[in-house]
Amino acid sequence: MRIAIVGAGVAGSYLGNRLHSRGHEVEIFEASKSQDHWPVCAWGASRHMLEKFSSESGLDFSKYTLHVGQRLRMDLPAEKKEYLELKGLVTYDKKRWEQDLLKELKVHYGQRCLPSSQLFNGFDYILDCTGVHRSLLPKSNENFIIPAYEYLIENAHDIDEFYVIGYKGARGYFWFFPLGDGMAYVGAGDIDKKYYGISEFFNQNPKAKILKKIGRPIRLSPPKRMQPFSQHNVIGVGESIGCVFPLLGEGIIPSLICSDIFLNNIDTAAGFDFKGYRDQVLKRFGYYDDVYRIVRLKMAGKLSTVKHFGLLMNMYRNMKKEELRFGFEIDFGKMRRLVNAL
Ligand SMILES: Cc1cc2nc3c(=O)[nH]c(=O)nc-3n(C[C@H](O)[C@H](O)[C@H](O)COP(=O)(O)OP(=O)(O)OC[C@H]3O[C@@H](n4cnc5c(N)ncnc54)[C@H](O)[C@@H]3O)c2cc1C
Repeated sequence: MRIAIVGAGVAGSYLGNRLHSRGHEVEIFEASKSQDHWPVCAWGASRHMLEKFSSESGLDFSKYTLHVGQRLRMDLPAEKKEYLELKGLVTYDKKRWEQDLLKELKVHYGQRCLPSSQLFNGFDYILDCTGVHRSLLPKSNENFIIPAYEYLIENAHDIDEFYVIGYKGARGYFWFFPLGDGMAYVGAGDIDKKYYGISEFFNQNPKAKILKKIGRPIRLSPPKRMQPFSQHNVIGVGESIGCVFPLLGEGIIPSLICSDIFLNNIDTAAGFDFKGYRDQVLKRFGYYDDVYRIVRLKMAGKLSTVKHFGLLMNMYRNMKKEELRFGFEIDFGKMRRLVNAL
């Protein structure tokens, strides 16, 4: 089949590679120019999952790992602190990983596509892998996004662990993600756009040198609220249809899981199975809707650990089952303390 992929991010580059190796004719259209293309992200995700996705695409993930985390330090409101044991959370060279996935493919950089684009004549399917932009699919009923930006820095040798500051009311958080050799991402996502922690970090670390400032919002509304997933022969994959874990704004692994669901439904005798894809995405990401409700209730100051106990338990049970997919320990006591502290 002839397949156009719009967006060369995590979903677009992975799908391009996998579809090409299955014998499909693939072309990628990416808005940014080749020399400016940068994966806007803090490059943190679970090694266990990335090893699997890499080996399926012929890559050796160990060549891309930058920092292997041991624990994550969390500063919480009212001077509280928590530490999470890490179970595979790493940072990796996401730019090189995506570039290597795209090596054998025809990529048209500098092509910002619109739904009406003439570029797609003759393609059987067009994949909307444009992430938060959702450039080709119609608007969804509920599009909740959180503003975020970050700095790529060097000379940050004093901290070499994952570090976050959780904001009161779960309204966002600051992150420090080490990239090895004193390099790191320092950033924040914050519904109130105050981004507490960033200027404090630079005051405390005067030697840290900024190499790049990047940013874009992160979508928190999950798949259930990001329908439709397709229109005519345009199909959304990844963050464009809400595949982001709403509590953390973490979308690398969810976008790749969504890509695998796409792959399970493309090579049927009747062509792409739209219904199968929709059902499987809704099922796989079903509990993300509960997590989203928890986040929105907390942001509105309406979350009650008594009244919403069922929702919280559901989040805990589902996350616990997927501990290795997250790359950090899922502990009920810590989760309860966290929910109460925020
Ligand atoms: C600051 C920040 C830090 C983050 N950190 C993490 C993290 O550490 N771990 C994690 O798991 N998640 C993180 N996320 C979320 C994660 O990066 C995204 O959820 C994930 O990249 C989504 O993948 P995607 O392939 O759906 O879209 P993207 O990776 O965003 O790719 C979309 C691509 O489409 C292109 N594009 C957009 N519009 C058009 C158009 N009209 N025509 C052509 N091309 C277009 C864009 O240029 C981009 O290359 C972070 C997000 C932000 C903003």
